[in-house]
Amino acid sequence: MKTFEFIRPADSVAAVATAAQAKTAQQGADVRFLAGGTTLIDLMKLNVETPARVIDINRLPLDTIEATRDGGLKIGATARNSDLANHPVVKRQYAVLSQALLSGASAQLRNMATTAGNLLQRTRCMYFRDTAMPCNKREPGSGCAAITGSNRMLAILGTSEHCIATNPSDMCVAMAALEATIHVHGSKGSRAIPMGEFHLLPGATPHRETVLEPGDLITHVTLPPPVAGSKQVYLKLRDRASYEFALASAAVVISIREGSVARARVALGGVGTKPWRSPEAEAALVGQRADQANFRRAAEAALREAKPQSENAFKIELAKRCLVHALQTAATA
Ligand SMILES: Cc1cc2nc3c(=O)[nH]c(=O)nc-3n(C[C@H](O)[C@H](O)[C@H](O)COP(=O)(O)OP(=O)(O)OC[C@H]3O[C@@H](n4cnc5c(N)ncnc54)[C@H](O)[C@@H]3O)c2cc1C
Ligand code: SF4
Repeated sequence: MKTFEFIRPADSVAAVATAAQAKTAQQGADVRFLAGGTTLIDLMKLNVETPARVIDINRLPLDTIEATRDGGLKIGATARNSDLANHPVVKRQYAVLSQALLSGASAQLRNMATTAGNLLQRTRCMYFRDTAMPCNKREPGSGCAAITGSNRMLAILGTSEHCIATNPSDMCVAMAALEATIHVHGSKGSRAIPMGEFHLLPGATPHRETVLEPGDLITHVTLPPPVAGSKQVYLKLRDRASYEFALASAAVVISIREGSVARARVALGGVGTKPWRSPEAEAALVGQRADQANFRRAAEAALREAKPQSENAFKIELAKRCLVHALQTAATA
């Protein structure tokens, strides 16, 4: 690990001012915020992240979870994944988020991992984590070892010829289905970013993963008020039952009236280069009977643009079955 300066700012303003001196907020950033450290410290040990300055934000008052005036929820950036998953309001009204968080990592990791850190966790593509291998995300222009190499775990939606890495987060998939908003305090003031606009597709610049700029500190995430009577499910399929990332996952929030789908929000995990909201599946569901045939049609629509690599064509059918099962479970809950 390279040596770095460790900074404990007095407040958010000082934290943002220091971070704003960075050349980039993306891969290769010379200044990084430190939250739970479960992504950042790992990558620093591997020399994939080499910040010269690390700003510890754990003492900033950003860890509360509280109701908003409109009946939604405000989640602090440093609220721990375990606290969020077990919060009574989240368990009762945003069950899909609680289920997604509890399906991730391990109890120990969830006790450390934070909301903002989870939003910004990096891909688990093995070549990204190995500095001996070419990787456009880690080192722009060096190539992509995964396209001709080991890609079983990698993405089938949103890929480019430059990068096929999966976004590994479970929490983000639930937040996409819940239409969360990410709140950022930066050197030019504060702004709110809809979840669907926060992560970027790899395109020709896979090292740019989000819309964040130098200095941008995520302060909190808000969820809109829960939809009365909606059914919520997060289903994660993986190689083993715990401590494993998704091969495919689905977050669904649906409302059913008189046997038909009145409203649907659908997002997929483990298959996209970003948390994958599927307006195609949502459109296929709304107004249709809540039955297996229509759930399968929605799944076909969600995966229509899927582009498999040499080792991961199985994910297309797996993701479809995952979504159908999640919808069935929600519909019969
Ligand atoms: C063995 C293992 C298994 C795992 N399994 C899963 C899994 O199954 N599912 C899953 O979803 N995740 C899994 N994870 C990932 C885990 O959820 C993330 O590592 C964690 O959520 C990151 O949060 P953190 O607070 O530790 O982030 P950190 O490591 O502290 O930070 C991560 C990044 O976010 C930036 N950052 C942090 N806070 C802010 C902020 N407020 N504003 C701006 N930037 C910020 C940091 O600078 C850094 O770049 C696993 C991790 C490990 C190590
Ligand atoms: S898939 Fe992306 S992260 Fe993996 S080697 Fe290729 S460029 Fe790097």
